[in-house]
This record gives sequence, C-alpha cells and structure tokens, in this order.
Amino acid sequence: MVPVVEMKNIAHVYVTDREASLAVEGIDMQVRKGEFISLVGPSGCGKTTILSVIAGLLKPSRGEVLVHGKPVNGPTSEVGYMLQQDYLFPWRTIMENAMIGLELTGRLTPDSRGRIENLLQEMGLGNSGTLYPAQLSGGMRQRVALVRTLATDPALLLLDEPFSALDYQTKLQLEDLIVQTLKERGKTAILVTHDLSEAVAMSDKVVLLNRNPGRIHRMFVIPDHIRQAQPFHARNQPGFNELFQEIWQEMQMTTREGVD
Ligand code: ADP
Ligand code: MG
Repeated sequence: MVPVVEMKNIAHVYVTDREASLAVEGIDMQVRKGEFISLVGPSGCGKTTILSVIAGLLKPSRGEVLVHGKPVNGPTSEVGYMLQQDYLFPWRTIMENAMIGLELTGRLTPDSRGRIENLLQEMGLGNSGTLYPAQLSGGMRQRVALVRTLATDPALLLLDEPFSALDYQTKLQLEDLIVQTLKERGKTAILVTHDLSEAVAMSDKVVLLNRNPGRIHRMFVIPDHIRQAQPFHARNQPGFNELFQEIWQEMQMTTREGVD
C-alpha cells in the first residue's frame, strides 16, 4: 500500500536578510495508514519545520514530500494541522468555529453540520455549541480545535505540541481522547512533542531528531503491549520506564553533541 506520507531526502534552509541557516537535512521518513508517529528532539531541531513541509505550508529547499503518493504543492484538505494555540476566533461561537474549515472549502451541508454536532457531542462539548471561546477552559478549547481539525475529515493529522499549554490532568485526558478518536477513524497522525513520556504513551513509533542541522537520529518502535494500551495505562506497562530511559539518554547525548 502507498504510504500516507513519504519524505525523500528533505532539507530546508531558512534565508533571512542576515544569514542562511540549514534547519533540517537528509530527512527520510515513511508513515503508513493508521500509524501514530511522534517527533521528539531538542528545541530548534526542526520538528515544526518538518510538519510545515508535510502540510504544504513550506516548500523545502531540497527533496520531495508525497502524501498518498502525490507530490505536495500546497495545503490540501487531506491534511489537518492542529497547533499548541487553538486559534479559535473569539467572535464566533463554538459551533461556528468548528464549521470554519467546511465553510472555507464550500462543503457546509446539513450532513456535514450534523457530523460536527456529533463530534462535539463525542468530545463532551454537546452543550457548548452556542458558547464563545472565552467561556471555555483551555482543555475544552483544544477539544474544539480537534473537532475543527476533524470536521473536514483529513486522512492525516499533524499535531504540533497540542497539549503544552494545558495542565497535567487535562493533558492526560486529551491524550486518551485523541488516540481513541483517531484509531476509531483509522486516521494517520504525526505528533510533535517535547514530552517524551507522552510520545512513548501515544505512539507506534518515536522518531528522535538531533539538531544543527536537524536530522533523524534514531527511530524507536514501541512494543505492542504499550502501543495497544490507552496512553494513561501505557505508562504503567512493563518496559515503559526502561524505554523512556533509553530514549531520554539517547536524547541527552545528541543534545550534548549539539552544544559542543
Ligand atoms: P522545533 O520545532 O524543533 O523547535 P523549528 O522547526 O521551529 O524547530 O526550527 C528549526 C530551526 O530553524 C531553528 O534553528 C529555528 O531557529 C530555525 N527557524 C525556524 N523557523 C524559522 C524562520 N521562519 N526563519 C528563520 N529561521 C527559522
Ligand atoms: Mg516547534
């Protein structure tokens, strides 16, 4: 089967008026249908750059990205992007915020509207449709952002640190909700996180990057029994801590290399 994402020898140079800096280099990666992959690594190693390239928001200086076997030439509705900040419009209700993607792509129908209502219900937001973002907690707002991302039914979700502004309890609840929602729908996902335990608990594979320039250092395949447990319970599975330690130590080493 054709991979959902295929990155072939991607490199990107950011050019400013003062300098040109090589952000990532030699990125080769394949993500298969239904896989949940995390990108981890020190700040500045190019995680967001990689997501922007896959989303078609940034044209890489070198290499090629294919989504479902087709070259990426700009944003498409096949790919949904969810960020740390929810970017909800304060003057629109929750329902109106959730509908915006469908509205912009001219696909708002009674059917698709019904789908959003179901999604809001599933996310525990059934009674919040007429409220405004300012009336919601941080965790609720991120759930609205998830509904908005899922509303256009993208096959691939790119999640850039979606939990980092949330308190710990809310973050754990959302981890479970996201994994369950995406698995049920057979979605493919790439998560960027600075939280190693979150990466191990949620993912099928963890890709560790090093920096200056950002390259793939190593890929860790998460054992089945950890993968299959819900993120909250994955943390209590035998072998979880050992795997966490292993990736942690590897990351410490790459960070030190980057500084020297
Ligand atoms: P991460 O998400 O892993 O923290 P980024 O992808 O944001 O890393 O950044 C990778 C590198 O590229 C960093 O050194 C960063 O300073 C640089 N960079 C990111 N965006 C820009 C930009 N718009 N212009 C210039 N340099 C950038
Ligand atoms: Mg980033």
